[in-house]
Amino acid sequence: MQRSWDKDKLIRVNMTEQTVAVEPFPDEWKLLGGRALSAKILLRDCDPTCDPLGPGNVLTLLPGVLSGTAAPTSGRLSVGCKSPLTGGIKEASAGGEPAQDLMKLGYRGIIVTGQPADRSKLWGLEVDVNGVRLIAADSYRGMLNYAMCARLLANYSSDASVISIGPAGEMLLSGASVACTDRSKDRRPARHAARGGVGAVMGSKCLKWVVVDAGKAPVRQPADRPGFAKFAKAFSNDYLTKGRHETFKWGTSAVVPIANMLNTFPYRNRTEGQNPHFERLDGARIRESFATRGGEMHACMNGCIVRCSNVVHDASGDYLTSALEFETLTLLGSCCDINHWEDVAELDRLCDELGVDTIETGAAIAVMMDSGGIPWGDAERVKTLLRDDVRQGTELGRLIGNGAVAVGKARHHPRVPVSKGQAIPAWDPRSMKVVGVTYATSAQGADHTAGLIVDPVISGRDAVIKSQEVQIVNAATDSSGMCTFLAVSLDELRAFYGHFYGHEVSRETVADMGWNCLADEWEFNERAGFTAADDVLPACMVEEGIGPEHSIKFDIAPELTALAKVRQQHGESLYRGGAAG
Ligand code: SF4
Repeated sequence: MQRSWDKDKLIRVNMTEQTVAVEPFPDEWKLLGGRALSAKILLRDCDPTCDPLGPGNVLTLLPGVLSGTAAPTSGRLSVGCKSPLTGGIKEASAGGEPAQDLMKLGYRGIIVTGQPADRSKLWGLEVDVNGVRLIAADSYRGMLNYAMCARLLANYSSDASVISIGPAGEMLLSGASVACTDRSKDRRPARHAARGGVGAVMGSKCLKWVVVDAGKAPVRQPADRPGFAKFAKAFSNDYLTKGRHETFKWGTSAVVPIANMLNTFPYRNRTEGQNPHFERLDGARIRESFATRGGEMHACMNGCIVRCSNVVHDASGDYLTSALEFETLTLLGSCCDINHWEDVAELDRLCDELGVDTIETGAAIAVMMDSGGIPWGDAERVKTLLRDDVRQGTELGRLIGNGAVAVGKARHHPRVPVSKGQAIPAWDPRSMKVVGVTYATSAQGADHTAGLIVDPVISGRDAVIKSQEVQIVNAATDSSGMCTFLAVSLDELRAFYGHFYGHEVSRETVADMGWNCLADEWEFNERAGFTAADDVLPACMVEEGIGPEHSIKFDIAPELTALAKVRQQHGESLYRGGAAG
């Protein structure tokens, strides 16, 4: 009997030759998707010592294992490559529609290799029921993401979705993101695989966009249809009615007051963990604006039951941006002493238009302010900086677009809060030790989505064990296509996989998939030249405290932190059904 995944394919795009090939997807990889598949492909196809912006780098655009199925909230797209920001492996993921659409067409992903000899031309990739084509896209050169997607989508069906870069990706800036269109009527490029400069790698391959037009292609059918449907229904019902939905019902911006209370709402380039003006940045203000300006909570992709994404309108009631997240309010707001959510909403839209990471860009601007280059809190100056300098690629604009380390070096400023060259997100390693261990040990550099537990009490060895557990669970989740906000457990993942493929998948198998993903990523970095000396947080996070009398510091020694990379520290709890799983 033909099974729905038997005809799964991979698209291989050779940008040196400008050729496209479609190859069968290896059956032994059927439980690999998203982040884990990206690590596997990069280890096999990419020389870890290559120039990240040269022809040797490989760009992967990969849905998760469950994307395109009826499993809830399962359509995230992983974008992978060697990072021009960190020099190590990178996976950044985004919501939106492209991953669902690729999988409905039977494509488990796109691998982009090489680089055109003639870098003056831009290319676009069309994927639809008739096949895959590379076409000229010069007329989209320099376009901002929103206008570009609107013009492009006018040529395709109302079901089409887009993966794109903005001007920052074309300029190869190390903070450049890859945008995905969401499920709004206007299909806005509001969801970004933002971290690590993945947009610069797409730009270095002269690939401006990928359009996926799945038309009315049906969702992927599981082997055990009744079992899958029953489990998906029970899971969704449980999620929505038993308290799990409460955490993200109002989006990440709702955590501002709690984060401030817990000393993890960094202020003025992280010199404090609390912001005296936090209430002006509280997501509650955004929710209140829905009544007078319009706006709402929505789902960024089909099938999302969490609907954590806020759609933000301006004072005239017109759409401004989506989603305005906690991370953006922290890095572009509080860290820069910009304390009105409306200003941050404008900055968020500018970043999405340009295609830059709001975390890296906010951190870069905070370092610029801390070093005296721009006055603290000067929101109008920052808007000009993004709208004019980054847009035009001035020397200052490129400096900001290249991230916090670039600004620190240029300004000879020592307080640069990064790990492996990537800016530390909002969650502060000093008050949240588990995420501090993750920032230090993850091959991705500072990335809260790699492993966060919001608990200020866990410390020492317990923090190391918890970090390892949550890094494994998050790697497994990132490989499934499910959004981390669904907080799916390993047992729930194995049930989805089991019903989809029609055979038992053990909890141990799923945990191993998470662990093996981490191990592949560490191996890539090791081959790229990373050592234990790279698994430490910068002096400003270790020596400078926050909170009462600046007493809260990241105090876990590197020798202990390193145990997060030693297998089985998690032991029984993860493999046999502990809380993290
Ligand atoms: S939970 Fe939020 S970010 Fe995740 S898929 Fe749903 S709307 Fe998008």
